[in-house]
Amino acid sequence: AEGRIYNFSAGPSQMPLEVLEEVQRELVNYKGTGMSVMEMSHRSKEYMAIAAQAEKDLRDIYGIPGDYKVMFAQGGATLQFSSVPLNMLGSNPKADYIVTGQWSDKASKECKKYGVPNNVCDTKATKYTTIPENSTWKLDKEAAPADVHYCDNETVNGVEFGFCPDVGEVPLVADMSSNFVSRPIDVSKHAYIYAGAQKNLGPAGISIGILHPKFADGSKELKICPTYCSFKTMADNGSMYNTPASFTWYVIGEYLKYTKKVGGVQYWAEQSDKKSGLIYSIIDGSDGFYQCPVDKKCRSRMNVPFTISGGDEALEKKFLDEAKKVKLFTLAGHRSVGGCRASLYNGMPLEGVEKLGEFMKSFLDENR
Ligand code: PMP
Repeated sequence: AEGRIYNFSAGPSQMPLEVLEEVQRELVNYKGTGMSVMEMSHRSKEYMAIAAQAEKDLRDIYGIPGDYKVMFAQGGATLQFSSVPLNMLGSNPKADYIVTGQWSDKASKECKKYGVPNNVCDTKATKYTTIPENSTWKLDKEAAPADVHYCDNETVNGVEFGFCPDVGEVPLVADMSSNFVSRPIDVSKHAYIYAGAQKNLGPAGISIGILHPKFADGSKELKICPTYCSFKTMADNGSMYNTPASFTWYVIGEYLKYTKKVGGVQYWAEQSDKKSGLIYSIIDGSDGFYQCPVDKKCRSRMNVPFTISGGDEALEKKFLDEAKKVKLFTLAGHRSVGGCRASLYNGMPLEGVEKLGEFMKSFLDENR
């Protein structure tokens, strides 16, 4: 489509053009119903089919065990920070948190409102640039926490787990907001996985939850849990206790259909390795002109943070300005860390990343 740019935003983020064009084709008259999906009752036969198909496709793509629940909730991942303790603590106030970045830190702080979070590690002192060895975490096995929470990919800091945390028998909870559907995962190792849609799977407005049935019966739900946050209420009502974010759910469904067509989550995994590998190799080959502060073993495939010439703000500004001239947008780092950041979600084509690579090389030649 004419005039489109490469958008490296951390989210909401670029989507595959094919998905947008399909949504456009169906926008004003969805499959002869005479109305837009936006205008459709969520209880209508047509809409129920859209919702069910999206769930089925996600189950197929991830190989989600049949007894797990899949939920589509409004409120973003931020509301999930509350929903987790509200539905999983039960009579046990304690929960462990693996704090490896700003988002897991926020999740831990939110838990404090309802229980007693224990940070089994906290890498703030390293400016969230590493993931300590699993064996060094101070997991509170004596206290038998209700769950252990981790953030699989820290969007701001660019830190990603390359392994599934081993926490023994304690229920494992994952925030996968920024690397959802970007590589195969073992769902059965988790009690709960949640992710906002606006990075790898569609527009903002929904967080998807994948829940072990043990936590869907309400037995660990706190009395103060708002009805909207109740996993049991969500699961029992197919995420339609109230009006869901129906249009977002539909677009997620289109993104999932597209995912199946291109080769499933394995395809996104290959693309992600290629795309991130390309940018990291330019950073590492730049003799320190570009620097990524994150430990090599936990560098994110999704969000690549980097500084230029030791954090030269004037030069970084020049980089961002010149990048725009070649259609490369939204490359500034998160406002809390500065520098630059390229987010390479599923919707960012390899071709866009190759353009960024070429630009980084020529900027290096001209400014080193
Ligand atoms: N967790 C992670 C890893 C995120 O990247 C974000 C958003 N950038 C959030 C949680 C919060 O998500 P939301 O804005 O959808 O509430």
